[in-house]
Amino acid sequence: MIFFRNKRYYNQLITIKCAKCRMKIFKYQKIGKGKIIYCWNSRIQKDYSIREQELVKCNCGNLIGIMVSKGIRMKQKAFIYSGTISNK
Ligand SMILES: [Zn+2]
Repeated sequence: MIFFRNKRYYNQLITIKCAKCRMKIFKYQKIGKGKIIYCWNSRIQKDYSIREQELVKCNCGNLIGIMVSKGIRMKQKAFIYSGTISNK
C-alpha cells in the first residue's frame, strides 16, 4: 500500500464535455479533489457553452447546469470531463 503525504493543492486544467454529444463545454481550472459540483466563473478558462437566461446548455441542447451567483451549479451526469483528478 502506498501512502501519499503530500498535502499541496491539486490544481489542474480539465476539459468539461457534454455527456451526450462530447462537445467541449468548458476548460476549467480545478483546485482540489473530488466531484465537480460547481464551476466557478473565475476559474473557467474557456467557455463554449450556450446561455439561456440562467440555464447553461451545450450546443446540442443538453442542459449542463444552472447559473448561480458566482458560477454554475453543474447537473451531474449531464457532463463528463477529461484530465486527471486523483481520488487518493
Ligand atoms: Zn451536447
